[in-house]
Amino acid sequence: MGRKSLLPTNSADATRLRIERMEADREQRRIRQKEVRLARTQEEQRNLLAGNPGDVDFIGLVREWRQEHERLAQPHGDVDFEKICVCVRKRPLNEKERAKRDHDSVTCLHPMATVHSAKLRVDGISKYLDHNSFRFDHAFDEETSTEEVYRYMAKPLVDWVCGGRGARATVFAYGQTGSGKTYTMGRIQQMVADDIFETLSNNTLFGDEGCSLENSTCSVAIFEIYGGRIQDLLNKRNRLKVLEDAKGEVVISGLEEFEATNPAEFLAMIEKGHTNRTTHATEANDVSSRSHAICQILFRDRTNGRLKSKLSLVDLAGSERGTDTKSHNRQRRTESSEINTSLLALKECIRAIDGKSQHVPYRQSKLTQILKDSFVSRHARTAMIATVSPGSSSADHTVNTLRYADRIKENSVGDAFGK
Ligand code: ADP
Ligand code: MG
Repeated sequence: MGRKSLLPTNSADATRLRIERMEADREQRRIRQKEVRLARTQEEQRNLLAGNPGDVDFIGLVREWRQEHERLAQPHGDVDFEKICVCVRKRPLNEKERAKRDHDSVTCLHPMATVHSAKLRVDGISKYLDHNSFRFDHAFDEETSTEEVYRYMAKPLVDWVCGGRGARATVFAYGQTGSGKTYTMGRIQQMVADDIFETLSNNTLFGDEGCSLENSTCSVAIFEIYGGRIQDLLNKRNRLKVLEDAKGEVVISGLEEFEATNPAEFLAMIEKGHTNRTTHATEANDVSSRSHAICQILFRDRTNGRLKSKLSLVDLAGSERGTDTKSHNRQRRTESSEINTSLLALKECIRAIDGKSQHVPYRQSKLTQILKDSFVSRHARTAMIATVSPGSSSADHTVNTLRYADRIKENSVGDAFGK
């Protein structure tokens, strides 16, 4: 009753009032929308200046997530290098990604790496993120230098192989094409060159057991595995054969090893191997993404040539190639399936290093066969660097890369069912 009495009695007045109210509401909405649009434009401008020009809503959602979680980041403390050490390295967003308005969709808060996959609700309008987090021994963000990655992932292995004693150390770069494998491994090779000769020249402590410039030679061999063929990158891309002798030792017959006596000689060989790989790549449409490149540094006894220890640095084929089975080209499909087989076998072989698995399927691919002693030796240690692109259009590949890296370490520490 009371409400009714407040209404004007004259129905024309009531209509006029309603219209006025509607117009006022509409004006309010217009102002609000304008404010929202302005705020959006300003935010877009800010994102653009920050080098992240993608979808403003998704960027906002990623930012919110980061604000909530950044306190969880830990410093990269020195941890003991176990038999298997796995890290992720995120590279910065690049021009190509900016040009297609990709946004930064990966967050590394050590030791966690998270992929924020952009999603639309069924209404086709509301946006949300799917977060996939993984824990690693190290998670390096886009601001981390290769020096730091090297310090945690490669330096302990370099020191260890310089100690001789049958050490078999291997560093892998695994990831999608364009994610930074060659960038990371290239720089690591340079740092290895410097470190090795410094350590060797100071190495008097290790005596006969260890490697020093007096009692050991340091030689380099570089080759690639491409479509099942093994090719010597330091010797005219000669085709090589992998053989297993009666004692089960794997030999790459025909592979040339070149002695290096100082960092400059070492680097010249790395450079030559790199050139041979990339020249070939431009000839035959990006071979580097479809081949595994392996650089081996071998320490031998100066008097009898016996192998004391070995460091292998492996730049793997693009991980996305393994899943590329839809190509119309038969050769490509065969290559893809070979890459897939080798990467799956590699994962299983590394998992066997901790000794908990008896099954080392190294015969399943050329890659794992060649690296047999990196898996079966009691003195095997491995570092896996999973490189990821931050771009939102790579999010699916990035999740796959992190899943792969995650599986390598899974159960390797404290496996309750281990033998
Ligand atoms: P991949 O070998 O995995 O295909 P690349 O190492 O060739 O990828 O890297 C692709 C591009 O990204 C190169 O131009 C490289 O210089 C650049 N890049 C990769 N990682 C980084 C990084 N951490 N910081 C800056 N630039 C990087
Ligand atoms: Mg590469």
